Amino acid sequence: MKKIVLGHGNKHAKIMLIGEAPGRQEIRQGRPFVGLAGKWLDKILKKNKIDRNKLYITNLIKVKLPNNRKPAEKEIKKWLPILKKEIKTIKPKIIVLLGDQVTQAFFHEPIKKIRGQLIKSEKTSYLATYHPSAARFTNVKNKISKDFAKLKKYF
Ligand code: URA
Repeated sequence: MKKIVLGHGNKHAKIMLIGEAPGRQEIRQGRPFVGLAGKWLDKILKKNKIDRNKLYITNLIKVKLPNNRKPAEKEIKKWLPILKKEIKTIKPKIIVLLGDQVTQAFFHEPIKKIRGQLIKSEKTSYLATYHPSAARFTNVKNKISKDFAKLKKYF
């Protein structure tokens, strides 16, 4: 049986982060964003003085994809109901979509088009930004950080 990694974090979180899929380290520890991408995420959170303990963090896909490849449409369809259940349980005020795959799964738009824009809706707003693993590029890290600065008013 394939190991799955469900969301983890504050059950009363006002902010939910959604990544793409767990990597090797996440499968090992059973939690999202505890590997290299998690380290980048932590740096961005620290820069913005955002406490990770106040967040709920999950992924679109709950299993590791071979060679961390992009998820297929079929895989997104398979896992989306579980993600929707997580959203319904946590009821976040804002959902942060991390990366192009997740953004496309929700908005059918490439990330470039909507990144950094606050997309307001009645119950839950959305903010799409680049995936933390791309923060190894300083210009991308700065953009993600700028986007995360918009979250402060949701605490
Ligand atoms: N990348 C993701 O998108 N999610 C994780 O949990 C880890 C790395």
